[in-house]
Amino acid sequence: MESNKESFDFSEADLVRETELFKDCLNIVVGKGNIDSDILFVGEAPGRNEDEQGIPFCGAAGKNLDKLLANVGLSLDDIYVANILKCRPPENRDPLPDEIRAHTPWLLKQIKDMKPKVVCSLGNYATKFFLSGGDVDGMKKQPGISQIHGEAREIEIDGVRFNLIPLFHPAAIIYNRTKLTPLWEADMEVVKKCLSSFEAGSS
Ligand code: URA
Repeated sequence: MESNKESFDFSEADLVRETELFKDCLNIVVGKGNIDSDILFVGEAPGRNEDEQGIPFCGAAGKNLDKLLANVGLSLDDIYVANILKCRPPENRDPLPDEIRAHTPWLLKQIKDMKPKVVCSLGNYATKFFLSGGDVDGMKKQPGISQIHGEAREIEIDGVRFNLIPLFHPAAIIYNRTKLTPLWEADMEVVKKCLSSFEAGSS
């Protein structure tokens, strides 16, 4: 497959191209799913499979995400998925603050273009980024996903408003299925309720 690394021609992509992560990755991983839907899921960063294929959530975590969505009657036709980082960190290490600073303007551009009603942050990094209002230095002060999963709140970043609902990361659920799957399913009921309240409001 030909790499997509030089395919994007806008300033947010230039910021990503300035990072070390870009030099080492095979592909930029932008997103997948239904860009016209009302729900955006945001994960952390591409892993090896995602880097090779240029598609988010196409490895083990992605298979689990598909399964978790199917369990609540949803599929990739109903959501769009992107990540905080657009390039794979070496050995899948945690994202660094400067990397988050350089890669999230592209995520915010995606949010502005898509205008989702609900953003579901998957796991700690995405959740803390949104809770801090996009202030990367403020991320460490934010509560962890175990404390606030399933709690909806309105967020405004860079003039864009949406409802944030933090969810456990599908990769974390693989390691603790018995405990976390029912919590994820209950949290998805919050997502569905939130969307239906918008639909009721707009009719
Ligand atoms: N984990 C993530 O957070 N994102 C991916 O795209 C794959 C695994």
